Amino acid sequence: MEKRSNLTTEEKESFMREAIKEAKKAQAMAEVPIGAVIVLDGKIIGRGHNLREQTQDATMHAEMIAIREACEEIGSWRLERSQLFVTLEPCPMCSGAMMLSRVEEIYFGAYDPKGGAAGSLLSLATDQRFNHWSYVEAGILQTECSELLSTFFKELRQKKKLQAKKTSVQE
Ligand SMILES: [Zn+2]
Repeated sequence: MEKRSNLTTEEKESFMREAIKEAKKAQAMAEVPIGAVIVLDGKIIGRGHNLREQTQDATMHAEMIAIREACEEIGSWRLERSQLFVTLEPCPMCSGAMMLSRVEEIYFGAYDPKGGAAGSLLSLATDQRFNHWSYVEAGILQTECSELLSTFFKELRQKKKLQAKKTSVQE
């Protein structure tokens, strides 16, 4: 059984822009810029951005935080009929959490060839052997989403280089 998207291109891009806003919040805190939102009936019911460094908790991914907030918002662990937007392809943990919370549609921006479980390395969310599977669509505002990440890592490398230089001068 094939699942289909229930959104227009305009809607998809507009919600992805909200996920990008979340990613920028992470960036402002020197976190890897990844953001997510969850939508139900055209309304955002959960938001999240990566907080791994701040919390020193490997599970604090944008999607996990957004799922938690959405469940709290509607008072249920079942996020049936909901749509999740995330700037980077979800990892196995987040794909699993989306499956368990029954997210209906998953939209992501950039591919993650080294960690993605929604098409790159695995296709967890669409695997019909599981009790629940989702519709997955990749590449929503892909350029913007991947540039956020590549700029962040480029700047991080420059900072590290500069720091290394400073230390060698001090020695
Ligand atoms: Zn994740």
